[in-house]
This record gives sequence, structure tokens and C-alpha cells, in this order.
Amino acid sequence: MYLEPSLLTIAYLVAAVLFIMSLRGLSNQETAGKGNVLGMIGMFIAVGATLSNSGLSGYGLTLGAVVVGGAIGLFMAARVAMTAMPELVALLHSFVGLAAVLVGIAAHLNHHGGGAVESVEIFVAVAIGSITLTGSIIAFFKLKGSLGGNPMLLPGRHLLNLALLGATIALAVFFAKADTTAEGTTYLLIMFGVTGILGMHLVLAIGGADMPVVVSMLNSYSGWTASAAGFMLGNDLLIVTGALVGSSGAILSYIMCKAMNRSIVSVIFGGFGAAPPKKKKAQEGEEEEREVVEIDIEGTVEALMAAKNVVVVPGYGMAVARAQHAVREMTELIEKRGGRVRFAIHPVAGRLPGHMNVLLAEAKVPYPIVLEMDEINDDLPATDVVLVIGANDIVNPSAQTDETSPIWGMPVLEVWKSSLVVVMKRGRAVGYAGIDNPLFYHDATKMLFGDALASMTDIVSELRSEAKAAA
Ligand code: NDP
Repeated sequence: MYLEPSLLTIAYLVAAVLFIMSLRGLSNQETAGKGNVLGMIGMFIAVGATLSNSGLSGYGLTLGAVVVGGAIGLFMAARVAMTAMPELVALLHSFVGLAAVLVGIAAHLNHHGGGAVESVEIFVAVAIGSITLTGSIIAFFKLKGSLGGNPMLLPGRHLLNLALLGATIALAVFFAKADTTAEGTTYLLIMFGVTGILGMHLVLAIGGADMPVVVSMLNSYSGWTASAAGFMLGNDLLIVTGALVGSSGAILSYIMCKAMNRSIVSVIFGGFGAAPPKKKKAQEGEEEEREVVEIDIEGTVEALMAAKNVVVVPGYGMAVARAQHAVREMTELIEKRGGRVRFAIHPVAGRLPGHMNVLLAEAKVPYPIVLEMDEINDDLPATDVVLVIGANDIVNPSAQTDETSPIWGMPVLEVWKSSLVVVMKRGRAVGYAGIDNPLFYHDATKMLFGDALASMTDIVSELRSEAKAAA
């Protein structure tokens, strides 16, 4: 059954509106589930309407691709651990880039000579697609930990970027002037290689601490790539959907940059103006010699029992340990005893925007006690106990004290201003940015070494016994 063109337009319009409502829903934890459902309905309408387009053929191939792709997607989604989500997202962005490259090359092979506008559309789509593809693959390896977090800062890297950009523009001119399809294809493929190197180089030059912005930037690029593919395919909905993803990714990148006190230009061009981190020898030695003060489960429980105000700072380690449910149980036990517990969420905690919010929502921690960094930082000096659970970079004071630090200038949770900070982690390992954390040696800090889930489970059972004994 084919859809009339007017009905197709209406279906696309409904899908576009549903996507906008979905984005609106996703902007708030309480409405995120509803937003997801609206997005799924919109996508169902979009795919259904596109398949009912009278101009379409090759249903067998399409169905085969949907079944195989859908099965792989279901398998990956069912297996992926929450901590591996960031790299999966990066990998999925690379697929969008690859799709645009393939659509672009196919469009060129099918319609060579279709006019200047079409040539521009094809060239731009392949260029953005290629940058998204290789940039996302590098981001995948960086987030997976296969590539180190340190930026690769080649001498003359900005000149290299400029040269690659210049070569791309020159290839655009050759492509536009190509006499035959084969000649055009050659220029297109060379440009694919050139922009591919550019994409790789841009992301390799970005340090671990700036990766959150890269993830959202690549998200944005993948949207613009889809939009460009929409122009090539003459599909209005793809143009609109791509623009929605592109602009929301760009807005998120801006918000992340603001939260990290970074300029978006410096992040895009990879460490622009940022000197490679120099370590102050004296300070390094000083820190190595300094001892940390440890605390055990009993000591931690004693402090929590005596505290009126407790702030929990969750980080990537809480996600790794999957300790969020035990953390919620601890919260309930402290609240029952009359203590006040709040959560402090740093914008780049974990490995995905909103990572901690998702985990805490999953564990049913009430939203009103989950506060953003700006809402709670001023309350930290009046807090009795801060529990830092598997967080490191987001509570690192060197962001305020060490100008040579790669995280210099990034707003952090000022946990050291509270009466007692208990840092829960397995050892003295560094965080994602790969830098030492003077918080561990601070007078207010005590280290509770061990897996966050194991420690949290012990804290919960001690708090339970104390509650029983008091009853
Ligand atoms: P960090 O990566 O700085 O630190 C996490 C700490 O958790 C480690 O030091 C580790 O220490 C500890 N840890 C790991 N596993 C466990 C466990 N099972 N139990 C207890 N502790 C554990 O995390 P933060 O959340 O503080 O900071 C996020 C970092 O990630 C920032 O640098 C941010 O820029 C970056 N990033 C964020 C993204 C985002 O969108 N949010 C995306 C990409 C990067 P140990 O091994 O000693 O236990």
C-alpha cells in the first residue's frame, strides 16, 4: 500500500512533532520515560511512512537490513553494561557518519551531473560523515580505555588541521569540475581519506578531561550528517530530525563547555592554547611522600550516625561498582535516624552527560534530594560528612590551585570545605583525566579503600544493626 504524497507529508509532520516532544520530555528526569516512548512512536511512524512511499523499491533488501540491523541492535543493547554506554554511543555515532559517506557515494554514482547544488550536498555530506566516522571511532577507543586519556599534541597541529582543510576545499573544486563520474569518485574518495585524518586528529588532540564535550560534539555532528543525507535523498523528515539532533547536541556541548569553563573553539580544535600539562616536580615529590589517612567501615558509620548533614558525591566508580541501590538504602537509613542526605551531581561525573542522574533514578533516589553542583557547592562548608563514592576528577582541588593542571579552571565540587570527607575508592589510582588528586592528602579527608559496592553494603548492614540496637 502506497501513501499519497499529502499523507506522507502529514505523517512526517506528526513524526517531527513527536521528536520535538520527545526531546522536551528527555530534558527532565521525571518525564524522560515518556519522552523516550514519544520518540519511539515518532520513529515508528517515520519508518512506516518512508517504507510506504510510492517511489520506493527493493523491499526485500530493506527488510533484510532492518531484521539483521535490528537483531544486532537488540543484542548489543541487551548486553551492554551501563559503564560501557559511552563507548557504545560513540560507536553508534560512527555508524551515522559511515551511512552518510555511503549514501553520498551512492548518490554520486547514481546521479552524476545532477547540478551544482547536488554536488555540494554530496561533498558536504561525505566530508561531515567522514569526520564523524573517524572522530567517533577514536572517541570509542578513548572512552573504552584502549587509547590513553592524554592528548596527542603534535608540533604544528593547527597547521596540519589547516592544511587538511585547505586540501578538502581544493578537492571540492576538482570534484565540481570533474568531467566523468569516475573522476568525481576519485576526488570524493581522496577527500574521504583527508577528512578522515582530520576527524581522527581533532579527537586525538583532546585530553581526557575534555572528552564529555567531544561526545556531545560528535552527537551534534552525527545530526548534521543525517541532515546532509536528508538533502541528498530529498527526505524532509531526515533533514528535520538531523537538525534536531545537530542543534540539541550543539546546545549540550555549549552547556558542557560552560560547566567545565572551557571555550568551545579550544575544545573543537583540540587543546588550542592549552600547554601540555607540566608537573611541578617539588609538588609531585611532596605528594608521593605525603601519607593518606585511612578510615574503616566502623569509623565511617560512626561519623554518619553523628552527622546532621550528609552529602553524597557519586562518580564513575559508583557506576563501575553498581553501588547505587546500596547508596539509596544507606540514604533511607540515615534519614530514618533523622539525618539529612543530599546528592551533589557534577555535570561531567561518570562518562556520559546525566550518567549519575540515570543511575540514581534507576535506584529510585528521590529527585528533590539530587542537586546540581551549583545548587549545593555553597552548602558544603556547613556539611558534616561528604561521602565521595568512586569520584575523582570532579572533586580535584587542583582545578583551583594548580595553573598547570589540565583541569585548571574547571568548576569542581568543593568537598574539602566540609568537616569530614570520606573518599571511597579501591586504591590511589587516578581518574579519567590521569592526574593526581591533592584531596586525598587534605586534612579533612579520610580514605575508605575498597570496592564501592562492598564498602557500601557493609555500611548499610552496620547502619541496620545500629538502628535495630537503638529500637
Ligand atoms: P573519575 O574517572 O575521575 O574517577 C573515578 C574513580 O573511581 C577512579 O579514580 C577509580 O579509582 C574509582 N573506581 C573505579 N572503580 C571503582 C570501584 N569499583 N569502586 C570504587 N571506586 C572505583 O570519575 P569522575 O566521575 O570523578 O569524573 C569523570 C571524568 O570522566 C572527568 O574527567 C570527565 O571529564 C570524564 N568524562 C566524562 C564524560 C561525561 O560525559 N560525564 C564523558 C567522557 C569523559 P580506583 O581505581 O582507585 O578505585
